[in-house]
Amino acid sequence: VVGAASFLINLIYDKLNRRFAFFGQSHLVGAIRGLIDMLLVTIMVHFTGGIESPLMLAYIINPFTNAMIGRIFMAYLLALGVLIMFTTNCVLEALFIIPHYHVSGLPSNLYLNLQYTSFTAVALFLVITLIVSLVTFLVNKLAEKEKKIAELSDARIDFMNQVMHETKNPLTSIIGYTDLALNGTLGSLQGSIQEPIKIVNRQSRRMLDLVNDLLNIARIESGQYKIEKKPIYPVKIIESVIEEMKPQVDAKKVTLVQQVNSNLPMVELDETKVLQVLINLLSNSLKFSAEGKNIYISAQVKNKELEIAVRDEGAGITATDLPHIFEKFYRASKENVQIKGTGLGLALSRAIIEAHGGKMWATSDGLGKGSTFYFTLPL
Ligand code: ADP
Repeated sequence: VVGAASFLINLIYDKLNRRFAFFGQSHLVGAIRGLIDMLLVTIMVHFTGGIESPLMLAYIINPFTNAMIGRIFMAYLLALGVLIMFTTNCVLEALFIIPHYHVSGLPSNLYLNLQYTSFTAVALFLVITLIVSLVTFLVNKLAEKEKKIAELSDARIDFMNQVMHETKNPLTSIIGYTDLALNGTLGSLQGSIQEPIKIVNRQSRRMLDLVNDLLNIARIESGQYKIEKKPIYPVKIIESVIEEMKPQVDAKKVTLVQQVNSNLPMVELDETKVLQVLINLLSNSLKFSAEGKNIYISAQVKNKELEIAVRDEGAGITATDLPHIFEKFYRASKENVQIKGTGLGLALSRAIIEAHGGKMWATSDGLGKGSTFYFTLPL
């Protein structure tokens, strides 16, 4: 009965905690909850032999868990609560003010020995305090280590950021100048020099993409990546990506089929970042599709989430590669090695979607059978 009561009280507490944020933070509510737990343990101990009950070990649980989650003051307060409640129960039993319940098999008449009672109560209090101190010490040590690791990781990111930014500047000017040279602003180019400059331009763009992807992945991994959500209609973001990708779609001579219901509800998202994900998926589908094929982009509400899918009729992915394509630097199928890429696009896309609280996955029936990439966003 006591166990069931304790379960019920903690369940109600948990429900209220989820409903009202202040619940979890309020020290008073926490203290009341802890003391109710202690009282329930005392009732349990009382009915199973008082001072003779082995269930008195249950007193350790609450102070221990509080110490573990860093509520040190609460842990010591509960240790004091144990001392008071346990002793009161035992003394009241010894003075015959409340009945003593004897559980057969356990030593009897111990409860009449007040010396033993006080010794046990103090020992229990000391053991609990010792455990709380030890756990606190370990928790602090762990927190210190965690802080150090975070600092080291921040320093690594800062260093990487610096190196990347230093790399971005020259790349941007190489791209700028080669653009000017190629569009004739710097005067007409001799035929033989055009091709090498195009290559320099193309490779520099690839390198800039790589640097940007690496920077973003490092930011996501260190938790420095800021997602700024705003409500938006899904159809709007899909129209933006279609418009953005139109030149590449036309150049590849594929047909983009939009299957989006215009009355989908608004969803909270970081428009630039989700647009980046869609661009990544569409660019991949384009890269791996042959001329004349279709690429389908769809959005629907499923299980209280918005599910967006990009399906192509392209190269497909083998069952061996499928579980790995979202890993950093993973590039599948040897058949596709001539298709340029860094293997970072999907890793970054999935990280962006997960930062939104969504999921991302892919399916494919195998090589040559096309693939579908899905992601969800909570509504
Ligand atoms: P990248 O395209 O730069 O190589 P990604 O992370 O975007 O990197 O993709 C990882 C790998 O997943 C690709 O190299 C490719 O093998 C596979 N892949 C991604 N999208 C598709 C697709 N639409 N069709 C077939 N394979 C794909």
